[in-house]
Amino acid sequence: MTFASLQLNKPVLGALPSQLTKPTDIQRLAIPSILKGGDLLALAQTGSGKTYAFGLPMLQRVNTELKQVQGLVLVPTRELASQVTDSLKSVGVKLGIQVAMLCGGVTPEYQQAEIEQGAQVVVATPGRLLDFLNKGLISLKSLSQFVLDEADRLLEMGFWPDVQKIFSFAPAARQTLLFSATLPETLEKAALGLMYKPERVTA
Ligand code: AMP
Repeated sequence: MTFASLQLNKPVLGALPSQLTKPTDIQRLAIPSILKGGDLLALAQTGSGKTYAFGLPMLQRVNTELKQVQGLVLVPTRELASQVTDSLKSVGVKLGIQVAMLCGGVTPEYQQAEIEQGAQVVVATPGRLLDFLNKGLISLKSLSQFVLDEADRLLEMGFWPDVQKIFSFAPAARQTLLFSATLPETLEKAALGLMYKPERVTA
């Protein structure tokens, strides 16, 4: 099994970090499913390679001509935001895609400038993103892909009301991807309210 057999295009294959020689299980299962365009509910642990599992197809589907937010990854913590941003930037920079991080602890002015300069993919924690949405500092009108990463932690940490508010700013015609290490019934119910007939994969 190779990355080339997962329907990734030439530019993305050419931009893969050198340590990615063989896809992990979650990448093998999730990448072709995401490229088909439907919603996906994926059960995957941290360390499984889940970031590239949603990141590579997301970057492949960005329209580089359009300088607007097209992909959004919502994460529960700043540390995770920083890791995900680094991974997506490592590939995005080679594709001419701007990736920005939006989370607490960083000056809002700097983050605002990154958005205004045309960020196409944004990795965010709920509080800061909602703050930007409420102030009209970011628009999700061109959003086509919405990822909830470590969704069980987003729920456990009490972020779900914010998550729902953020969804209310997103277009109805979007692809929603949920990645989680566990799927308690409360999360499954909450998630299904935000998704349309998701495919399910477990790695
Ligand atoms: P994640 O589960 O996304 O946090 O990834 C865990 C670690 O695995 C990161 O350091 C990735 O760079 C690495 N990684 C992800 N996919 C692969 C792969 N296909 N081959 C080797 N390492 C990988």
